[in-house]
Amino acid sequence: MRSSTEAVLEYLIVKILAGRDDIVRAVHDYFVNSVSPSSVATKYNLSKHQVRGYIQRIVEKTGSVVKARVLLKYAIPVVLKIKPVTREVNGYIVKCGICGEELPSQIMEDHIRKRHASLIDEYLESTVEIIKKSVTLNHNS
Ligand SMILES: [Zn+2]
Repeated sequence: MRSSTEAVLEYLIVKILAGRDDIVRAVHDYFVNSVSPSSVATKYNLSKHQVRGYIQRIVEKTGSVVKARVLLKYAIPVVLKIKPVTREVNGYIVKCGICGEELPSQIMEDHIRKRHASLIDEYLESTVEIIKKSVTLNHNS
């Protein structure tokens, strides 16, 4: 069983790997910078409905908005350093840079979860370590 922290980190890491850093930036704006869902939607060219869905999924995983805010404040700058493994072929199709498969963009996250789980685990482990260090440093200063 993953902890709630790991569940959220995994959620964000898969989005980054699939090339959806826009979603990660959008939820950062909402939770950390307190930007409204409708402003976030406009800024990142997402629907308000989608933005609410992403927010809800993160709150479900962490258990509360306050916990989500604290975690994302530390986690998002770290996960944004991860490079996507996908490359856009055209408006609908993206290519997986690991296995070379070309798939519709909507199913790329599923593909990464199912086929490249070890890569997610590696990033999850290193992200947890970096966050632990930065939290410890902040507490000591
Ligand atoms: Zn692949």
